[in-house]
Amino acid sequence: MSNPYRVLPAVSQVLEHPELVDARGHIPHDELLTAVCSELDRLRSQIAAGESVEEAELLSQLVRQVSVQLEKNSLPLLQPVINATGIVLHTNLGRSPMCEDAAQAAYEAARGYLNLELDLATGKRSSRQNPVRDGICRLTGAEAATVVNNCAAATILVLRTLAMGKEVVVSRGQLIEIGGSFRIPDILAVSGATLREVGTTNITRARDYENAVGPNTGAILRVHASNYRVSGFTKSVGIEELVTIGRKHNVPVIDDIGSGAAVDLSGLGFTGEPDVREGIRAGADVVLFSGDKLLGGPQAGIIAGRKALIDKMEADPLMRALRLDKMTLAALEVTLRMHRDPARAAAELPIYSMMLAPLAELRTRAERFAERLRAIPSFARVEVLDDIAYVGGGSLPDQALPTTVVAMAAVEVSDAEFARRLRVGQPAVVCRVRNGTVRIDLRTVFERQEDDLLHAIIRACG
Ligand SMILES: *Cc1c(COP(=O)(O)O)cnc(C)c1O
Repeated sequence: MSNPYRVLPAVSQVLEHPELVDARGHIPHDELLTAVCSELDRLRSQIAAGESVEEAELLSQLVRQVSVQLEKNSLPLLQPVINATGIVLHTNLGRSPMCEDAAQAAYEAARGYLNLELDLATGKRSSRQNPVRDGICRLTGAEAATVVNNCAAATILVLRTLAMGKEVVVSRGQLIEIGGSFRIPDILAVSGATLREVGTTNITRARDYENAVGPNTGAILRVHASNYRVSGFTKSVGIEELVTIGRKHNVPVIDDIGSGAAVDLSGLGFTGEPDVREGIRAGADVVLFSGDKLLGGPQAGIIAGRKALIDKMEADPLMRALRLDKMTLAALEVTLRMHRDPARAAAELPIYSMMLAPLAELRTRAERFAERLRAIPSFARVEVLDDIAYVGGGSLPDQALPTTVVAMAAVEVSDAEFARRLRVGQPAVVCRVRNGTVRIDLRTVFERQEDDLLHAIIRACG
């Protein structure tokens, strides 16, 4: 019997193929060699598995595969994705898109130098926190503020500064997991504080806190149960009451509000997300929230509160490890400026245009998009349907956002395969799959992306 691997060309034959002359010019030899070997390996395992390998055209096919591989290798692994899920704050897709001005600020900061820690007027060294302090103070009503990498980092820094080696009193109803390993008891443990649980899962009363607070209490912590709700027979203690208890015993009160509604969403019937001003107004000593949830900015952990406490946090050696980079700071400053005028914030921050988009407008867009798809014969069905979306990112978890979707069923490919092809396509598209259809929610698709989305769908469905 003849050797079945005999049909495979030699490595050198592939490497020297005229179609790879360009690649030889600009791709390191090692990378080229790796690509050729991996394609040859793939063919070898095909043969080993008893699959037939067509001898004619083998070399040119192999060269084509190598070219495709090299092309893929040349692209960054992080790439823009069209978010057609309708989930505005999709943590796996980078949460909040930033407004153009914030993105531009990050870009300029990235490609050049800036006065990150230099006071241009005096020529002296300054703090990188200065440009964002004022915006946070205006937004929250706090007297001082600082920022770190994300809200998890903010929680660790605050607990460490205020309560290392001491007890932190937390309601059992608030010992939550936000996801991605952010669990309140673990966060407490890494910050060197001891958890003092009070109350039960559904009921915690003021006297539960009263009974727990003592000489070894470092802080009282309230955590907004962002991503779940306890309903029915429940009771929790409001921030005002916690502040009263804290003041009486001279213990700081920390309010981790998670998202923090910065723009009024009551027009959508949304309730239950703490307002960013609420905590400070009620007298909380420190309020924490994320930069990339309802603030609509870059990933950041915002810390607002009493100056003496903020100063202490900034003096902590951990601050150096948690501090923000220049691009994020530049984008955050611009985002905070948008929030000076709530009407402007609602108009310019993409997450608010998305959340506040009128249903009728979404429907018109969906109808128009569906019309363009119906011109293509690859679909068994293209329908515009009412559906439900969520804000995401641990914000407003139980509050449905009525929306409109384009539901598509392809003739030749299953819904799962259709969705997979959309994900691995160029550009990548992430959508929902439901009841045998692939669903596109244009709420989270920028108008500038619609043509690309259409072409991505056409390529994936046939
Ligand atoms: C989301 C959230 C966090 C974590 O915020 P990150 O910025 O993702 O680190 C912490 N606490 C609450 C209440 C949250 O909702």
